[in-house]
Amino acid sequence: MSDTIGRKRGVRLLILSTLSRTAVLLLLCTLALWTEYSNLKLGYNNPRLVELSSGRMMRLFYEGSDAFFSLFGEPAQVAREFGGMTWSIRLFGIPFTDPVAALSLLARGHGWTPPIAAGLIVPVALALLFGRVFCAWICPASLLFFTISRMRSLLSRFFYFPDFSPGRSTAWGILAGGLLAAALYGHGVWTLLLPYFAMGQVLFQSIAFGTLPPPFFALAVFAAADLALSRRFTCRHLCPTGVLLGFLGRKAPVTIRRDAPRCIAECDSCTLVCPFQVNPKRDETLDCSICGECVAICPTGCLSVGRGAS
Ligand code: SF4
Ligand code: SF4
Ligand code: SF4
Repeated sequence: MSDTIGRKRGVRLLILSTLSRTAVLLLLCTLALWTEYSNLKLGYNNPRLVELSSGRMMRLFYEGSDAFFSLFGEPAQVAREFGGMTWSIRLFGIPFTDPVAALSLLARGHGWTPPIAAGLIVPVALALLFGRVFCAWICPASLLFFTISRMRSLLSRFFYFPDFSPGRSTAWGILAGGLLAAALYGHGVWTLLLPYFAMGQVLFQSIAFGTLPPPFFALAVFAAADLALSRRFTCRHLCPTGVLLGFLGRKAPVTIRRDAPRCIAECDSCTLVCPFQVNPKRDETLDCSICGECVAICPTGCLSVGRGAS
């Protein structure tokens, strides 16, 4: 009975995390387009000119946003409360900053302005409390990698796939190299090194202008690596944000929890299914993203999400 309840809990977590990531994806598209709306409002303030400069789709979006923001006040002013691109956004005027973006600014010698520092509060607090929860619940690129990992599992019934694991140090190296490159050449380097930043750019450009920007090819490389080298290769070995969040959340109080007496000695299901190679059977929690996959598969229902390991 408790095993069924445990599995249902896991499936619920999986469904909710998928819905949450889908919502974030839609939100990011909207915020990016609203940023463009603000620019066009400032530049033209005229739907016909918007169509001439950016096309029919943008005109429709411009007019829709105009009507929507007018409900709450002066459109241009209300629009300023929302906007940004993937790693620095504003929601109801509250800023959210990507930790890698903040580090990148430090590397460039810019220092942090109060909005950037304030924007770090929520992401860092989330990591300290819930570990890599960003990866399973928020990251706009993780749905892509989740889908590829499912494809890989399916195809591995018929074909051989290697399991290449260079280790976490690769991602630390990419973070250090990316910061150095950003300091020398600018932030553009992150569109090629951060999968979710690339995803944001691709979505925005394809929706707003109907074109595929260069980060699309970076995403294709990440996707191919996930398919050919090992399961969730990009998230486990390449993404600098993943390793940084894992480090910040290594002592997160809320994480995967095991009821040891009900665990089966011969079983290994949770370890095998974990996309981040966490080993809940040994009460390891470093890199846990609270995705729920292990909870859903545990035959005795002895895994749950809660405070610390029992
Ligand atoms: S490791 Fe990076 S790309 Fe993967 S889910 Fe986490 S933030 Fe997204
Ligand atoms: S241990 Fe792995 S499978 Fe289980 S919730 Fe954490 S990340 Fe997901
Ligand atoms: S899935 Fe993991 S926690 Fe559950 S019984 Fe098997 S080894 Fe134990």
